[in-house]
Amino acid sequence: MGYAYYEIIRNGEKIEAGYGVEAVCEKADCTEKIDRGLGYLCGKTPGGDEHGCGGYFCGEHLTYDNQCEACAKVADEAA
Ligand SMILES: [Zn+2]
Ligand SMILES: [Zn+2]
Repeated sequence: MGYAYYEIIRNGEKIEAGYGVEAVCEKADCTEKIDRGLGYLCGKTPGGDEHGCGGYFCGEHLTYDNQCEACAKVADEAA
């Protein structure tokens, strides 16, 4: 990986991703500017996997394990 720009399918919708794509944190009411690189991805695979939802979040809304708050909560409850 490490591409600046690529397209992925997320929830049946085609979106642009990659660290060259500007975005804002997907947490409600958060306006932090990020990009759609893997460093801001919830989960480990663009588009989502069993580890995360595929959303993109700022450092404050992504846990140390690269999960957004909602996914981290689900993982905690499953543990
Ligand atoms: Zn998530
Ligand atoms: Zn945020």
